[in-house]
Amino acid sequence: MKVTRFKKACKRIYFYINNFNYRPPIQVLIDGTFCFAAIKNKFSIEDQLKSYLQLELRLLTTPCMIIESEKLGHKLHQVTQKLKSFNLNKCGHEKNPLAGSECIKTMVKDNHFIVATQDRDLQDWLRHQIGKALIYLHNVVPHLDEPSDASKKFVIRKSKATTRVSTFEDEQLMNIKKKEGLLKESSLVRIKNIKKKKKGGPNPLSCKKKKINIQTKIKKEKMKSKIKKKL
Ligand SMILES: [Zn+2]
Repeated sequence: MKVTRFKKACKRIYFYINNFNYRPPIQVLIDGTFCFAAIKNKFSIEDQLKSYLQLELRLLTTPCMIIESEKLGHKLHQVTQKLKSFNLNKCGHEKNPLAGSECIKTMVKDNHFIVATQDRDLQDWLRHQIGKALIYLHNVVPHLDEPSDASKKFVIRKSKATTRVSTFEDEQLMNIKKKEGLLKESSLVRIKNIKKKKKGGPNPLSCKKKKINIQTKIKKEKMKSKIKKKL
């Protein structure tokens, strides 16, 4: 795998970890279309996906996706078996199963999943959501999709709001200090500290003195040696 591809994947997954509370083991919700592409391209979902994302993963599917695959008959037998090998995440549609894509849409609402799908419509839908990660295969190569514009804008708005809150908190703190007379005290401490720093600095005069002392020492030693020679 090329380093740039790895770096991109790493940067993207940490975007979700840092901003949308995704936590290892990262949950990957896999549908039949992704399984079909993986089997066709001899892509090992367990091993190759893990080495691509470099994180601990939990591979999941839902009853709806297994039922959908079973309905499509013997041709998708391998896909059904593959789906059954993953952890089963209950979706609440057991009595009235939904189409795989519709089931995923309900599942991602309140959960942090990376959705693994080749379904173009579902991919487009995910690309318009906030904080929903998408992974797909391009032949045998996995791609973690770039975070959606909606996700990026959400993060920018969130960081601006945090800055505003901290500014407001700072103002509140200043007001409390003023009321209790602590502000003057703290200002005085700051001034004292500045003065201390100035006091602690090197005194150019003392440096000069040291030089003179050394020179006089040398002169004295020379004199002593001359006297000794004369004796
Ligand atoms: Zn379901």
